[in-house]
Amino acid sequence: MHEWALAEGVIKTAVEKAKESKMKSIDEIDLKIGEMQDIELDIFKFALDELMKEYGMKAKINIRIQKTKFKCNVCNYEWHFDEFELTEDEKEFVHFLPESIFSHARCPKCGSQYFEIVEGRGVWIEAIRGKK
Ligand SMILES: [Zn+2]
Repeated sequence: MHEWALAEGVIKTAVEKAKESKMKSIDEIDLKIGEMQDIELDIFKFALDELMKEYGMKAKINIRIQKTKFKCNVCNYEWHFDEFELTEDEKEFVHFLPESIFSHARCPKCGSQYFEIVEGRGVWIEAIRGKK
């Protein structure tokens, strides 16, 4: 259940940042989540709601998904997930097991299997808005 750990990290960080900028209450939190971050959004949102109750918070959480960006180690080409020519089955598989992209896909330009993920993983707080 790492969704709970991630959610707790978000809430704790938000509370700290709010304290630093002397906010009395947090109204809104903007989050960015990488498309390749292995996360169940429903569980994550539920965890956030439950944790906010614990912390006595009632903020609106906006979630934005960051597209995955890949970079080829051979030809330096950079591309997004949509550019892979994957079948529906493969796409589904990759969704559940992001690492499997490396055995299912190749660089769209040179066909190399030596590429890396440069963006699209992790959870970030982009902004916090509240009352001072
Ligand atoms: Zn390439």
